[in-house]
Amino acid sequence: MKKHILLVLAVILVILVRQVDFFKFKDHTNGPKVFDKTTHSLSDPASLWIIVNKKRPLNPPNYEPNDLTMPKVPLRREPSSVEMKVRASAAKAMEELFDSAKHDGLSLALASGYRSYDMQKTTYDTEVIGYGKKFADTESARPGYSEHQTGWAADVGPENGECVVLDCFANTPEGKWLAIHAWQHGFVIRYRQSTKAIVGYKYEPWHIRYVGKELANEIHKTNLTLEQFFDLPAAPNY
Ligand SMILES: [Zn+2]
Repeated sequence: MKKHILLVLAVILVILVRQVDFFKFKDHTNGPKVFDKTTHSLSDPASLWIIVNKKRPLNPPNYEPNDLTMPKVPLRREPSSVEMKVRASAAKAMEELFDSAKHDGLSLALASGYRSYDMQKTTYDTEVIGYGKKFADTESARPGYSEHQTGWAADVGPENGECVVLDCFANTPEGKWLAIHAWQHGFVIRYRQSTKAIVGYKYEPWHIRYVGKELANEIHKTNLTLEQFFDLPAAPNY
């Protein structure tokens, strides 16, 4: 009889221990970290996660970042050009990105980083005069609507000048490398293939946007555009 009682007690003990384990497993502090989509503002022009598109202009329209920095990387223009600058943390990340490419035997150069409201106005107006408003809107952002004005975006190309800001960049070794590795350094290819109806621009394999490593990792995992990831309306036009 005593043996039976001991056996029952042992079974109860095993069940109790297992339940403790079960609750430990369920403990949220040990579970996978949930990505917090509210960490940074999507509307503040100075925010790391500002989303600018044809439906989301910068506010104020003439916003200027206060920490523009020239990255220590090969430049496609004179260092005196403000276009060779980006926000400080993006500059540091770009140096890491370009170093990593160099490690793999490829040389990237910065073609265009920050563009002010006035610079964008000149570019856009020139396109309108040359090709008409409809065409200009497919190629170039209206002033106050450009991601370049945030200081978080950059057009990059091979240092040898081949296919800089051209569709053929996608087929260069540098373009292929960038598509695979940009996210590892906190950048996303902002205008990807077949996303024009959402992001508003055709595929631009050269245009990268710094969002930080955490968000870039999520975008890489989910394969979504920034608009989709944050449940924002599609922005095919103004
Ligand atoms: Zn660009």
